[in-house]
Amino acid sequence: MKIICIGRNYTEHIKELENEKPTDPVVFLKPDTAILLKKQPFFIPDFSNDVHYEVEILVRINKIGKYIDKKFAHKYYDEIGLGIDFTARDLQSQLKSKGLPWEKAKAFDGSAVVGDWLQKSNFADVNNISFTLEQNEKTVQAGNTSHMLWKIDELIEYVSKYFTLKIGDIIFTGTPAGVGKVSINDQLVGAIEGQQLFSIKVK
Ligand code: ZN
Repeated sequence: MKIICIGRNYTEHIKELENEKPTDPVVFLKPDTAILLKKQPFFIPDFSNDVHYEVEILVRINKIGKYIDKKFAHKYYDEIGLGIDFTARDLQSQLKSKGLPWEKAKAFDGSAVVGDWLQKSNFADVNNISFTLEQNEKTVQAGNTSHMLWKIDELIEYVSKYFTLKIGDIIFTGTPAGVGKVSINDQLVGAIEGQQLFSIKVK
């Protein structure tokens, strides 16, 4: 399986990183080895002094597809989740400034937290799902999918032009404002509409 990640999909987060509003979604991949194993802590890697959390709504693909029209995209997923796209921001800034790919900063082992999944049918509207991340019991990110620049079905249309989507592939749909640094001993708890879907210890 593969993990397809979207960058700069919420306006407030774009302002926060002083990025330009893109004309197309920013897309990058993480390999399956990036997934943090269930119940394991996240270890801050030794090549970064500035690892950030980015909480994101996840979509799990349930059917193979290519060139999926956004009108039919809803047929390609029936589970919604929540995860963290851990980012070595110092390394990413170095790579960006040289125009180099981001993988070392974004796709390292443990950089993808995938929480428990919820049935899409639980939601009246996937474009109105609220979610939060707490760091040591303080809410640091609060988002709603209604604020996405590209909605879930538009993202599926866009990414499937480039990559065949296969069963089990996961799309990370981008992070809202409030990203920040993690420290040793942090506890990170993610929830969709108040329901806790992961709890991660940082070491
Ligand atoms: Zn992200």
